Amino acid sequence: MADDSPKEACGVFGVRDPQQPAAHLTYLGLYALQHRGQESAGIAVSDGDKVLVDKDMGLVSTIFDTHRLQALPGGLAIGHVRYATTGASAWHNAQPVSRHAGDIFFALGHNGNLVNTTDLTTESGSDSDVVAALLAEALPRHGDDLIEAATEVLPRLRGAYSFVLMDETRLIGARDPHGFRPLFLGRLDTGGWVLASETPALDVVGAAVVREIEPGELVVIDDDGVRSVQFSAPEPRALCSFEFVYIARPDGQLAGIGVHAARRRMGVALAAQAPVEADMVMPIPDSSIPGAQGYAAASGIEYGDGLIKNRYIGRTFIAPNQQLRENAVRLKFNAIADNVAGKRLIVVEDSIVRATTLRATMKLLRDAGAAEIHLRVLSPPYRWSCYYGLDTSDRSKLVAATMTVDQIRDHLGADTLAYLELDGMMNAITPTPGGFCTACLTGRYPVP
Ligand code: SF4
Repeated sequence: MADDSPKEACGVFGVRDPQQPAAHLTYLGLYALQHRGQESAGIAVSDGDKVLVDKDMGLVSTIFDTHRLQALPGGLAIGHVRYATTGASAWHNAQPVSRHAGDIFFALGHNGNLVNTTDLTTESGSDSDVVAALLAEALPRHGDDLIEAATEVLPRLRGAYSFVLMDETRLIGARDPHGFRPLFLGRLDTGGWVLASETPALDVVGAAVVREIEPGELVVIDDDGVRSVQFSAPEPRALCSFEFVYIARPDGQLAGIGVHAARRRMGVALAAQAPVEADMVMPIPDSSIPGAQGYAAASGIEYGDGLIKNRYIGRTFIAPNQQLRENAVRLKFNAIADNVAGKRLIVVEDSIVRATTLRATMKLLRDAGAAEIHLRVLSPPYRWSCYYGLDTSDRSKLVAATMTVDQIRDHLGADTLAYLELDGMMNAITPTPGGFCTACLTGRYPVP
């Protein structure tokens, strides 16, 4: 997706391994989850006695260096990468959040978005602050037992959450009863345990995937191993289908389905649904690459690169005028003129949300001499706001909420535009029906 993409929903990681420096492992895990949130990052660590929290604005690699990690000793840690989905973008909203309550100190990292925080407390701040406040308030009722407090608080929450939580000695993971956001349990060969939003974060620390945390399940990891508590009956499953389209890394698995293969199948389905004569199929890098490969293979049209993405770009700055905004796009993408000049292009994009950068990218291809541009999108029009962790709450900014497909085609300057139909997309993810959230594409919200 081009850069006016939704900023992703956050990533969480946790590890308990008394034999290894947990903060270092957490750094690696967060590095692998960086695509889920680039605004702030943080690590909480315990040496068995006391919990330390270190967090800051910026990328994992710019915040933490060896020196800073060495100041976080201990074999138990959680970590978080964040993009603001609720709460202003500021340091005090960085996570993990932490609290003293009674005799314990706990820290919490949250991926998702709650829809009922105003009913739960008058406390302001991020969703995670609200949950920390509820836990702190519940602890005295449960003799300062964090597990029992969590088991009381979690069923009161509505919406999307995958949590990592810790006190001085225990690592806890929990997933909402619909399972909107992923959360995996992994095992290190030292015997330690790991929790992570996506499987590549387990791979990077050398942990084997054990299983996903089930919707409505809380797992406790301590000296006795892993214990599971079902804190709520599972609701109908609603794993975010957009994880497959765009959010998750292609080298991971979700619900037992390889993300790269699912994206490729979306491209195959799109070639069957919306064929067009052309000279070359090209992706908007990087997330559309598997889909473009699938489209090319199914259509028999040559696959090629028309755009190069700058690997080192961070967040695109807010440019003060049109000229500088165009320059900002050129910093992110540049056209390979030799590959596109005079050609009829099929340009594959995973999704169109706000479209400003995509429009500028289309112009780059025209300026480089593209003869025709046939835009093919691997998902249906994104027409509805997400309230479960993507920052698309302002519907007026969603191009498909305000324009018809023909208007979007003209707005983007494409010759033709086709979106993959919902059935085609869902079937590409898995032929087994049900179990996914598609609210941003259909307006059918699993949680009101
Ligand atoms: S509304 Fe869309 S982005 Fe949000 S959880 Fe559902 S499928 Fe995912």
